[in-house]
Amino acid sequence: MYNISLITGDGIGPELSESAVAVLETIHDKLNLQFSIKKVQAGDAALQQTGKALPDETIASIKQSNACLKAPVGESAADVIVRLRRMLDLYANIRPSKSFANMPALRDDIDLVIVRENTEDLYTGDEFDIDENTSIALRRISRKASKRIAKYACIVAEQRNKEKKVTCVHKSNVMKKTDGLFARSCEEEVASHHGITFEQMYVDACAMNLIRQPQSFDVIVTTNLFGDILSDEAAQVVGGLGMAPAANIGDDFALFEPVHGAAFDIAGKQIANPSAFILSIKMMLDWLGMKNNDKKCIDVAGRLESTVYDTVKNGIKTKDIGGDKTTMEFTKEIISRLV
Ligand code: ATP
Repeated sequence: MYNISLITGDGIGPELSESAVAVLETIHDKLNLQFSIKKVQAGDAALQQTGKALPDETIASIKQSNACLKAPVGESAADVIVRLRRMLDLYANIRPSKSFANMPALRDDIDLVIVRENTEDLYTGDEFDIDENTSIALRRISRKASKRIAKYACIVAEQRNKEKKVTCVHKSNVMKKTDGLFARSCEEEVASHHGITFEQMYVDACAMNLIRQPQSFDVIVTTNLFGDILSDEAAQVVGGLGMAPAANIGDDFALFEPVHGAAFDIAGKQIANPSAFILSIKMMLDWLGMKNNDKKCIDVAGRLESTVYDTVKNGIKTKDIGGDKTTMEFTKEIISRLV
């Protein structure tokens, strides 16, 4: 039995959480993989009700669970996800982008993963006002965190069925100290992994190449802010934010969430695409399966992923990707194909 904490979130978060629970209950009931799901509060609604965006009971519940699923939260995201990543040392943010059939996308042969460093860079919140017209932000990059994320990128490359290439993305021609250290540390680390090809690319060139030749990437390793921006771009290249899952992984714990935010413009209308959240469940099952040597979990993960891909391929889609299904209609379609 796996204990899962589910942050239901803000905006489209509660609708997506209903989908996630329906999928997990089906896996529990019909595919015989046992879950206990505990809904926990975090985000704007939690801040309003309890005075804290990340209440203490939520932190306690997450720490007692085997993994956390997180729907998007609103304006308080920095106080929720950025805090959780640092508190639980979830240092690797894994964001895959793989082409779907029957999707408005640039190409049909894209299969890349962005491995984003999750604990440093401009996300440490070290910002200061010098005076009312000038503010400063400190950018932290360390050898330890850079080598650790490069190592994770190598592991991801080794597990994939591609050319085993790690592209280190930075801007060391401008940020000579911080990105210079990041690039050197990644190069050193990758050199110790036999069979992995290493290349470097400036972030502006990478942004262009994700449009020009996205099929040429295998694994991209990059710093926190660049990873945030590039992964939204990579998501759009294969069909949009509604399809893009993510994992935040540490040595002992992991949290899974869609790449997109709370999308308040479409909240409460039952038109949000639950695919990104459902594919985040797939990533969670893979992680739980590998951590616990649970082959069944890994099998169900593969089955869930191919079900989402087949459903979309058969033209069953939500509005954002050219279909007419509501959030729950699409979810029910996934469920009926899964069992
Ligand atoms: P954040 O900064 O928190 O990542 P954001 O301002 O980038 O959020 P998102 O909430 O991620 O914005 O979404 C951007 C737009 O993409 C939304 O306004 C919405 O129209 C669309 N969108 C995002 N997620 C989905 C989804 N699951 N289904 C359909 N459309 C979505």
